Amino acid sequence: MAKRKIITIPHPTLRKKAAKVTAFDEELQGLIDDMVESMREDNGAGLAAPQVNVSQRVIAVEFGSEEDENIPRTLYIVVNPKISAPSQEKVSGVEGCLSVPGLVGEVERPVSVVIKGQTRTGEPFKMKARGWLARIFQHEVDHLNGILFTDRATRVWEPEDEIVDLV
Ligand code: ZN
Repeated sequence: MAKRKIITIPHPTLRKKAAKVTAFDEELQGLIDDMVESMREDNGAGLAAPQVNVSQRVIAVEFGSEEDENIPRTLYIVVNPKISAPSQEKVSGVEGCLSVPGLVGEVERPVSVVIKGQTRTGEPFKMKARGWLARIFQHEVDHLNGILFTDRATRVWEPEDEIVDLV
């Protein structure tokens, strides 16, 4: 495994629609391992392949919270992820992004969504997520479509001591 450089705005790869993964080969496995290492080294709670300058539909999410809903810290890798069944109920939250350093923003998103896709070996993947976990998945899937949280934010500012999960 090797840490890869996380690109930041205005790098053009962040604005491209990423390509569907069709080969679950060694190259993909190497990319995923590198994404996990890069996410952990930068203390991220999520990372999308375009953030390491690979325009493919792969995301990593690592999140858990003892206070919020008793979710044990878990690593999720989803290839070709799709968001469906968004709840009508929405909630505002403060997001930050490893690719948008120095800014956070308030973003309203559905409280729960279903994520469908494939595992790193190409098996079907499906789960329902709520709360922060749902927010991270939506943020990462946005990256695959060239969308940044600043596009959706109702308010963006430079934090002084805001503690947010960077994704
Ligand atoms: Zn991000």
